[in-house]
Amino acid sequence: MRKYVLMGVQGSGKGTQAAMLAHDLDITQISVGEIFRWHVQNHTKLGAQVRRVMAAGELVGDDLVETVVHTRIEEHDWNFGFVIDGFPRNRRQAEFFLESYDLDAVVHLDLPDDEVRRRVLARRLCSVCGVDYNLMAHRPAVEGRCDVCGGALVTREDDTEEALTARLRDYHDKTDPVLDLFRRKEFVVTVDARPEPTEVQGTIRAELGLPPYGQTGETQGTRRIARRASTDASAPV
Ligand code: AMP
Repeated sequence: MRKYVLMGVQGSGKGTQAAMLAHDLDITQISVGEIFRWHVQNHTKLGAQVRRVMAAGELVGDDLVETVVHTRIEEHDWNFGFVIDGFPRNRRQAEFFLESYDLDAVVHLDLPDDEVRRRVLARRLCSVCGVDYNLMAHRPAVEGRCDVCGGALVTREDDTEEALTARLRDYHDKTDPVLDLFRRKEFVVTVDARPEPTEVQGTIRAELGLPPYGQTGETQGTRRIARRASTDASAPV
């Protein structure tokens, strides 16, 4: 049983890295942002509650986030473990997590703010299947159309200058202290998130003492994931 947390600022590739880790190790990926995006896209009651907050780049309230995470983990579809990305994002969420689950490791993806801006503002998402693109690193074959399903590519509602500024501020004010808390209690590894995704994944594996990337699990799927740009959006959970 493996339990990992992947932390990193927007655009650091935490969704992509979590998906690669999950696929290859046959563990379950839990992406909190992705769960919220699914609810917004499907116009659920929860989606209506979080849409505006997300679009402004702000954090959803702790009670709601904790309920969503708790409910998701309680599904117990993670016989071999899980990797969670996008949670915790502040001290209270970290404490909630530390009280309930023993973690194997926390992976911190480190990316300078100027690179975050460059990546996030070039990010696009398929409105149909959710695959993510980056107009610098992973352009679609046909402009504006998804390579996988042909769906229209859209900008995430929260990938604007204003929302990004709010998210970076929140990250440094609220999420950086979580790393300090984790460092006192958990095994934290910090990895440079600037190289291309497979290289970052290789470093994560080495730091965690795992077999090299691609030597376990279902390679067809991992190849597709490896092609994806280093952005946060990930396959739906
Ligand atoms: P992400 O895909 O991780 O960037 O998350 C997208 C958005 O979902 C964030 O900007 C928040 O509005 C919301 N969100 C995701 N995870 C959390 C969390 N742990 N706490 C509060 N809000 C969150």
